[in-house]
Amino acid sequence: MIYSIPMDTHTGLYKSLGFPSVTIHETNAHFDFVEPARTILVIGPMGSGKTEYAARVWRDASVARRKGASIAYLTSGGGTQKELFEPESGIGTADRRNTFFVRNYLDTSRFVGVPEDALVYRGGYERCGSNIATVGDSFKLEETIKNNPHVGTWIIDEAAFYDERLAYLVKRESEQRGLVFVMPTLLLNFRGEVFNETARLLMETSTDIYPLSAYCEHEECLESANNTYRYYVVDGTECPALFFDPLIIVGGDRDKSSPLEPNYCTRCDVHHYLPGKQYTFFTLKPLGERASVGDLAPLEAELRAIKFDPESSELFRSFRAQYVDGTRPSIAHMNALRVPLIAERAIAYLFAERNLLSAEQTRVLVDRLDLDREYLSRRLSDNKRPLPL
Ligand SMILES: [Zn+2]
Repeated sequence: MIYSIPMDTHTGLYKSLGFPSVTIHETNAHFDFVEPARTILVIGPMGSGKTEYAARVWRDASVARRKGASIAYLTSGGGTQKELFEPESGIGTADRRNTFFVRNYLDTSRFVGVPEDALVYRGGYERCGSNIATVGDSFKLEETIKNNPHVGTWIIDEAAFYDERLAYLVKRESEQRGLVFVMPTLLLNFRGEVFNETARLLMETSTDIYPLSAYCEHEECLESANNTYRYYVVDGTECPALFFDPLIIVGGDRDKSSPLEPNYCTRCDVHHYLPGKQYTFFTLKPLGERASVGDLAPLEAELRAIKFDPESSELFRSFRAQYVDGTRPSIAHMNALRVPLIAERAIAYLFAERNLLSAEQTRVLVDRLDLDREYLSRRLSDNKRPLPL
């Protein structure tokens, strides 16, 4: 695996030649279409220029194609499947200068007001003609690759949004046919954990990783940032999402000012507030574990307190100890308790993510505590554990 690192080891040489001390970084080179069989992860938070990187690959390819067919021997082949680099066979004419852009079906809402065939990045777009498709899973991607045998470089946007099979599909195609895959993707979720199993497998199987960072979006900060921060706006105040907020919230970018719709931005470690992690592991999950062996009452009592008498809940006590009476008080963290439907969020976490509540127990809690059925059903569906309530 190759990591892109600053090359300040060269400064010694530079200095020995009589130049002043200076930091030399890695050359921002044009994309290499000669080196075959690579799966390249381009990782970084929102706003770090991942898609812009993809657009640059696209532009470099158009320059490389102008060199003509005579150099195709450099940019074709390179895989283990021998027949594929014998032009006489009529197959395997993949040339890495031919690029194809695959966008994720979850992302189509972003492309309002631009041509249908556009690869959109901040500040512009490239038109891809027929070399663009919206693909929902690895099977459809496999079919698309098969239907475009001349394409040698595949850009797969938000690769971690796909099923795990994708990691092995791109590995196989790159090894057998020498194809190159460029995969801009988020790697970490709002909890700062590796996004999902697909992201983990992509890290394991990729040959190159390009990490990108963005500026922290806190208004008083210019640090470099890598964290995706989820927050809600309640009465005009920024309220960080609790650690146990539902992992996946689909279509959460319609109404930024609704306290039920999350917002996202990029933050440095200092400004990435993630309250409630300690409570999740110290209290909430153990309560779920007791429920999983039939003892639902303690969890029910805590959720009842959260909903009807918040200050008597263990959640509130834990926050007060940590963020009011603790060594580093923080009103910003306390604001997380202003977000509505906390009991519903806790149930979504325990049922859909931790598998600690049965369907029956979940229904019992919804009935007894008169929880918001619509909100909870939507979150359970988002997290692929739909349950009629
Ligand atoms: Zn910051």
